[in-house]
Amino acid sequence: MHTENQNIKECSMCKKCWKNLDNFLHDDTLIFNGYQPFFKRPDKGSFLFTHDRDDCGTTLLVEVWKFKKLLNREVDFLPFKPGEDPDCDLRCAQETDLTSCPAKNCNGTVVRELIQIVKQYVRKPMTSLSGDEIDRIIDGNKGEKSE
Ligand SMILES: [Zn+2]
Ligand SMILES: [Zn+2]
Repeated sequence: MHTENQNIKECSMCKKCWKNLDNFLHDDTLIFNGYQPFFKRPDKGSFLFTHDRDDCGTTLLVEVWKFKKLLNREVDFLPFKPGEDPDCDLRCAQETDLTSCPAKNCNGTVVRELIQIVKQYVRKPMTSLSGDEIDRIIDGNKGEKSE
């Protein structure tokens, strides 16, 4: 767990540096607000965070693989094509929808599983969402295991 030399992220604006995942996940100046999928290499997609500090406010992109140990199992991030699998409702391609995906055979769902874990730590941008979106998130969360 502590053998990685690489930082999780350095903020491009204020230069704040997160040396490990623990630092990052427990930093309450971060808001988790999006996901930029990379279909050919899902582990090279990015999670988007806002660095919500008065002197910053920039958006940080952190690659998906940096969070993969949160899954607590070996995972192959296989390429996926949104809509190709009959089960896929294209949620795997959504950038602002951070809900989990019920598709059984879409390879994009593993990243969404990871998103749910990250969401347990990093706060969500509830205030910037419309009422409908908040309802949708709350509904999406109902199906998840509680801590
Ligand atoms: Zn910053
Ligand atoms: Zn899909």
